[in-house]
Amino acid sequence: MLPAFAPLGEEEVRLTESSGRYVSRDVVARFDSPPFDNSAMDGYAVRAADVSAASPDTPVRLPLRGESRAGGALPGPLKPGTVCRIFTGAPMPLGADAVVIQEDTDRDDDEVVIREASPEGKHVRAQGTDVSSSALLLRVGDRMWPGEIGLLASQNIDRVHVFRRPKVALLSTGDELRALGDELDPGAIVNSNVYVLTEMLRTLGAIPIALPAARDTLPEIEAALRKALEADVVITMGGVSVGAYDFVQEAFKNVGIEPGFWKVRIKPGKPLAFAQYEGKPVIGVPGNPISAMITFEVLVAPCLRKMLGDPQPHPQPVVARLRNAYRRRPGRVEIARAVATREGEDVIVELHDRQGSGSLPSFVGVNALVILPADKAELAAGEKVEVLLWGPGLSGATSVFERLS
Ligand code: AMP
Ligand code: MG
Repeated sequence: MLPAFAPLGEEEVRLTESSGRYVSRDVVARFDSPPFDNSAMDGYAVRAADVSAASPDTPVRLPLRGESRAGGALPGPLKPGTVCRIFTGAPMPLGADAVVIQEDTDRDDDEVVIREASPEGKHVRAQGTDVSSSALLLRVGDRMWPGEIGLLASQNIDRVHVFRRPKVALLSTGDELRALGDELDPGAIVNSNVYVLTEMLRTLGAIPIALPAARDTLPEIEAALRKALEADVVITMGGVSVGAYDFVQEAFKNVGIEPGFWKVRIKPGKPLAFAQYEGKPVIGVPGNPISAMITFEVLVAPCLRKMLGDPQPHPQPVVARLRNAYRRRPGRVEIARAVATREGEDVIVELHDRQGSGSLPSFVGVNALVILPADKAELAAGEKVEVLLWGPGLSGATSVFERLS
């Protein structure tokens, strides 16, 4: 499916609205950072040569001339043989080339007793040492997170070019589906999938467009598909299997959506369908809630990340060990729900005891999807498996800081 997905072009957004977006142009620094030499500590700005002989036994006494504080008036030049009071972040006076920290000094009226030497550059944050003007700050494909936002903010860059967010139409199918809060007549169920996939799309950074659920008739699904094709990507849910009321694929054909493939060898999620309308990706995920979630996460999300501008859209599994032995019918790759915890050197995964494709409670608290290879029938306790971290990620009973202290 990946080749059918490509970034959509770019737009310029405010830095304050760029969180989670992928940048579409390299970003280059505008000026040196720090923009001026400043002090890294509270203390006294000196000429290193004036204090080179200072030690606790041979302190040096120098007259105090002036003060420099962050945001204050710029200090005048430092005359040889004098010191200037200085605070963290304050500009260094011209001529000063080192700072003696406050802890190594004593104040005596308008003189300062210096008990430590301070070589040139000591405790000085020199102009341009963090970022030099015209340095490359961000590369195409970097994702905006708080750190990236901070860096651009520090450079007074208030707008950034990012890839456009795809609009993804979500089309649920099924006579039994009702919207959240609707009266549930006998035989009806809530269209929970649409809320799940809406949330998953938001987390990725795509724009979900939830269409009203279509009933299981060809005309209704076809009409809904035509509407859905206004979006950049279409995801249908349900009606894609072999039942007498599974009309989605027929509706694809009638609307002119070209079939790509149908059925994947993963469990859950076998009846996934992929098709294209004039190059636009159309994916039919199965209606079973777990199948819908897992096929979305494992197969659809990487495609959307690519479209969002992520140059490395594939999720990277981590290695973990199974807590318990597991027997299964081989044949399909199985994506099993599990809880992962850190234990000593290892990440241990405990498979949920209900792996059916319809059980929503089996997703509560899940933070790992274990990838069980197609050909394996038996897995031993302690065996290594690959795991996709999911949702809230790893947590544990003990804080890392408690363990390290
Ligand atoms: P289907 O793929 O249409 O055969 O549906 C398979 C199962 O998933 C059936 O039990 C449906 O009732 C259920 N289902 C289908 N679509 C949804 C949905 N949007 N939300 C929750 N359950 C659904
Ligand atoms: Mg159905």
